[in-house]
Amino acid sequence: MAGIEPRDYQPRPDLLHERVILVTGASDGIGRAAALSFAAHGATVVLLGRSARKLERVHDEIRTAGHPQPAIAVLDLAKAQGPAYFDLAEQVAGTWGRLDGLLHNAALLGERSPIEQHDVGTWQQVLHVNLSAAFILTQVLLPQLRRSTDASILFTSSGVGRRGKAYWGAYAVSKFGVEGLAQVLAEETRDNTRIRVNCLNPGGTRTAMRRKAYPGESPDARPEPSAIMPAYLYLMGPDSRGVTGGSFDCQA
Ligand code: NDP
Repeated sequence: MAGIEPRDYQPRPDLLHERVILVTGASDGIGRAAALSFAAHGATVVLLGRSARKLERVHDEIRTAGHPQPAIAVLDLAKAQGPAYFDLAEQVAGTWGRLDGLLHNAALLGERSPIEQHDVGTWQQVLHVNLSAAFILTQVLLPQLRRSTDASILFTSSGVGRRGKAYWGAYAVSKFGVEGLAQVLAEETRDNTRIRVNCLNPGGTRTAMRRKAYPGESPDARPEPSAIMPAYLYLMGPDSRGVTGGSFDCQA
């Protein structure tokens, strides 16, 4: 698989057979598509989000399609405190005894505004949900990821997390942080674990967040989340074994 572009990957149907993968923000948009796609390729997916009602809908879609029974973890990443994270880690440990994949996907856009006028509360909330919550979740789940024979941690980046862009405020800064967190963790796990850590930038994709960021854009100007899944499947599955510390794009 050397030299492959993740976006050109062609997964086999049973790629994620018997893997347990947790997806944050699985209730909508790209996270929902990733959860459906991972399940369709054989994974048992832990659907994490803040709305039980929306997660149940995704759960039912997966079951109706005949894929492995998913689990639901209701956790509001803006509000959750330590015990809620530890309960989740215990649920994973007690049910499966390991975790094979962790997709950090949940995020808030916050407000598009100049730094000079950026609301401080919004800044803190966006940094917390997009970056600090991913750090805490990674920290509590690392023991279970270490127990996998082939684990993948995938962070969701953005073009504005690699090159700063006016008015993208806390969102852009949080994504720079996500890239940094992934690099640091990749170095720390490279030689002494079977865990790989990478970043993936979906590129403009047709979701509620995209509509909020670009209200004037035609709805069909961007691909559906389901169209960008090859890169997610590549980085989550065994064919990316040994690939760590990278930052990839779903779209050309
Ligand atoms: P959406 O807004 O469509 O979905 C965001 C998801 O995150 C939803 O499931 C949402 O839950 C969840 N979420 C938000 N806040 C919380 C919280 N406090 N606790 C738990 N879950 C929460 O966004 P996208 O699907 O577009 O984005 C997915 C990822 O891709 C993000 O990291 C985003 O930054 C990134 N991205 C997206 C691009 C795009 O063009 N769409 C471009 C570049 C990067 P709920 O359903 O309850 O709202």
